[in-house]
Amino acid sequence: MNSKIWLSSPHMGGTEQNYIKEAFDTNWIAPLGPNVTGFEKDLESYLKEDTHAACLSSGTAAIHLALVQLGVTLNDEVLCQSMTFSASANPIMYQGATPIFIDSESETWNMCPVHLETAIKDRIVKGKTPKAIIIVHLYGMPAKVDELLSVALKYNIPVVEDAAEALGSTYKGRKCGTFGDYSILSFNGNKIITTSGGGAMICNTEKKKLNTIFLATQARDQAPHYEHTQVGYNYRMSNICAGIGRGQMEVLDKHIGFRRDNNTFYKELFKDIKGVTVFSEPSDNYYSNHWLSSITIDESSKITSEQLRLLLDEHNIESRPLWKPMHLQPVFSKYPYYGNKVSENLFLNGLCLPSGSNLTNEDRQRIKKAITLAFS
Ligand SMILES: *Cc1c(COP(=O)(O)O)cnc(C)c1O
Repeated sequence: MNSKIWLSSPHMGGTEQNYIKEAFDTNWIAPLGPNVTGFEKDLESYLKEDTHAACLSSGTAAIHLALVQLGVTLNDEVLCQSMTFSASANPIMYQGATPIFIDSESETWNMCPVHLETAIKDRIVKGKTPKAIIIVHLYGMPAKVDELLSVALKYNIPVVEDAAEALGSTYKGRKCGTFGDYSILSFNGNKIITTSGGGAMICNTEKKKLNTIFLATQARDQAPHYEHTQVGYNYRMSNICAGIGRGQMEVLDKHIGFRRDNNTFYKELFKDIKGVTVFSEPSDNYYSNHWLSSITIDESSKITSEQLRLLLDEHNIESRPLWKPMHLQPVFSKYPYYGNKVSENLFLNGLCLPSGSNLTNEDRQRIKKAITLAFS
């Protein structure tokens, strides 16, 4: 049997262990230290736009602390893109708030600005102005940022930008992760870059960054003893993990180049296969890191997306259906949803294909052979 080709696996650049060794040599084995500070500086200079980064234990923790700082609390309502990974929505539940799910539009697969406004108007009529809007850039594809932010501004509702999958993507030349009142990144094992596990809060003021770090380190007030006036969290990033992050930053743009090459490979491969569309940027305003290359398959195709997934699996090639929308998830099905089946259809007909920055030419030849066979 050929070795497994994964959807997206960790891809080290080579210098990560030097930063880890330095941490050991200087005994910075703690959730703070030179690697944490250094990784934050690296992120800030990469994202530009006067950003202020706070490294945390996960992207989920970052979304949670964004909602905490926006004052989301018991019985508040929070609007959230339905088509996403559950981590976008779970922190709403941690706060005892109610998620309100919004459908996607078909161009970027992200939150539809029209449904967003419909939902806001309806929630206001029903008695509550939503406390926050969680938008996502799925698979690295930037959302319709201008349209979404103008609706948010019109109703004066803060935006949490979930850029977990979109480090290095840009919208109108500006990096994803710089558009929210709070923005978040993830460095989980399968993301664009990884620290094994980890995340970051990207803030637009130093004050927000310092408050994020305060909350993430148990909310210790200034005092020689332990003094607390607020509930705190243990959400800071380890100095060991941050060392991996610093090494990964050195190869980030190179690895994005490889992912974009994968996308070009799939476009070429599916060019003459009937009924298959490779997900790509709707215009020059959008630049995707193509974290995962994905396709949709329509009725004119010889096989369904599920048949393709099973056929690839026979060749030990991993592929996966698109994110199952949150409003279809048993855990969230009782919450309100505004939409028109765009995300439902994407889930039924879409598939993510192997997209790692470490795919080799041999891997691509195996994928090409298996896909060509599947459609023959
Ligand atoms: C990965 C991911 C997260 C969560 O990040 P973790 O670091 O795994 O907690 C949140 N949102 C989206 C869209 C993700 O893909």
